Amino acid sequence: MGSEQATTIKYEFKAEVKQLLDILVHSLYTSREIFLRELISNSSDALDKLRFQSTKGTEISDSDLPLEIRINFDEKKKLLTVSDTGIGMTKDELISNIGTIAKSGSADFIKSLQENRADANNIIGKFGVGFYSVFMVAEKVVIKSKSYQKEAEPVVWSSDGLGSYEITETNEKLKRGTIIEIHLKEDAKEFAEKYRLETTIKKHSNFIQFPIYLEKERVNTISAIWREPKSNVKKDQYIEFYKFLTYDNEEPMDIIHKSVDAPIQFHSLLFIPKKNFDFFGLNREDYGLDLYVRRVLIQHKNKKLLPEYLSFVKGVVDSEDLPLNISRETLQENIIFTKIANTVTSQVLSYLSDKAKDKPEEYAEFWKEHGRYFKLGYTDFTNADKYQQLLRFNSSNDKDDKGLTSIEDYVSRFKKDQKEIYYAFGNSREAIEQDPHLEIFKKKGLEVLYLYDPLDEFVLSSIRKFKDYEFKSVDTVDLSKLDKFKDSGEKKDKLEELSKDDTKHFDSLLSRIKDILGDRVTEVKESKRLSESPCVLVNQDETMSSQMQKIIRMTTKDMSIQKKTFEINRDHKLIRNLLKVFKTNSKDNYITDTVEELFEAAQLLTGDLTDPHRLVNRINKTLEHASEMYVDRIKG
Ligand code: ADP
Repeated sequence: MGSEQATTIKYEFKAEVKQLLDILVHSLYTSREIFLRELISNSSDALDKLRFQSTKGTEISDSDLPLEIRINFDEKKKLLTVSDTGIGMTKDELISNIGTIAKSGSADFIKSLQENRADANNIIGKFGVGFYSVFMVAEKVVIKSKSYQKEAEPVVWSSDGLGSYEITETNEKLKRGTIIEIHLKEDAKEFAEKYRLETTIKKHSNFIQFPIYLEKERVNTISAIWREPKSNVKKDQYIEFYKFLTYDNEEPMDIIHKSVDAPIQFHSLLFIPKKNFDFFGLNREDYGLDLYVRRVLIQHKNKKLLPEYLSFVKGVVDSEDLPLNISRETLQENIIFTKIANTVTSQVLSYLSDKAKDKPEEYAEFWKEHGRYFKLGYTDFTNADKYQQLLRFNSSNDKDDKGLTSIEDYVSRFKKDQKEIYYAFGNSREAIEQDPHLEIFKKKGLEVLYLYDPLDEFVLSSIRKFKDYEFKSVDTVDLSKLDKFKDSGEKKDKLEELSKDDTKHFDSLLSRIKDILGDRVTEVKESKRLSESPCVLVNQDETMSSQMQKIIRMTTKDMSIQKKTFEINRDHKLIRNLLKVFKTNSKDNYITDTVEELFEAAQLLTGDLTDPHRLVNRINKTLEHASEMYVDRIKG
């Protein structure tokens, strides 16, 4: 091959490519066959791009060549070739496309592959490492390519995948497209056998929209199943197509197949995967639906057909009405496109609504897997009603933290005259149930939504209302509004009522506490909300819960803490004892110490305590005292 004039230049792979190659060459990857899927899919992309150029009217070399993929093999030579008549590559394109890794986040991806070698099987298969995967089976690879551009020269690229590659400008007569020659390693020679190749192509590449020939025989059956009437498509075909599309090896959780006739005509075939695809948070950008116009792929992974919060949905949309030569850049401004996008979004939301209604258990599975993404839809004002109906939270009404409650369910259990929806935030159900703010809700038998994900509170405070009912955090609620609800729940053993005289002393004690705390609190007053705890810090800001304040403090780095009201439960044993001490000596240091302790403990619960050292030292001292008293007592 080549001629006297051919010049060969040697290039080094970029560092990240070397790292990836090192992993691929040395990992004991069990399904190496996916290299073929990757090469065929590259060929198919190249053919799509060519078809796209020709519908745009671009002049193309060898324009009479059929659009197809050919696979040839030579068992004796351990040689496999994959060729296509796609757009091909110029020398510069070969260097920039094959010598580097363009995918965003690929550096992170490689790092996590290196750290999780054991998991490589799972990751390589699902993520798709592209062209380089060929080095799992090849000791040498030669790419011969000629670009579709009229004046382009053919080029030859070759590498053993160890660190460098060579590029030769050849005089060889090549037609448009790309030929990849794979010199197989001894332990991979099975990939030069007909049966092995045929089953691999059928398994991974059956739905490629261009003919694939294995030697002379056509292997794949091209069918756009999304254009078929539902009754013609078998479940297995849907599943096979889903696996082809997503590289998932599990069946999808849901299949949504629709054809719309009016006012615009299109077909959509959508899937909800069983598991979220966000491996290590690296796949966040890798979403979108494939957009076809009358069977021709216009854009792979279009990100505007569905809003981002539904990005877990996979699938294809095929329009009858969009022009074939539409440019990807202006798609979004096209009215037909916008209408399709809106309809597809409604299709998904309606599907989910039905599922939530008819199969709540399956919906719970969906929520567990994809709910975190779905929640981000609080910005979708157009579909606010549907979105809100699909939200789920844990609630005091559920028997444990696995239970899921919809806002509608909550409202259906409203107490007479209830106008607000109450929620509390905490790290766990246990933590929330210990929160003093909840005591009055328990006493009055009012249901409270339990939020464990900081995002939940953003969601509720940005949607603000469900129908006419406002969401209220248990720590910003106006207590006078709870007066109308009678106490339910069992009565606790109550302490004796305070005498008139003691009530006066109690008021003086409150002033004393305010003196001790100074301007660390706005006010010290008797609490109406507590039944179990001696005291609690209460928010002054009606609009923002303590948790929200904490998040904002973290994001704005403004560490100043908002002052709160310190509420004291006069029917708590500890406070009654404090009152006795106060009556004996209003200046007793014991009061100061106890108040400091109670205050910091309350701060700890609202997340306002910045330094726990003093609190802990005081606890230790108190325990020391208590232990002395205890020892005295057991000694009799
Ligand atoms: P990916 O396909 O994910 O972009 P690859 O490493 O598989 O990553 O390929 C890198 C690039 O090389 C492709 O994006 C494409 O531009 C180019 N390429 C690969 N194979 C072909 C081919 N058969 N024809 C034309 N271009 C190709």
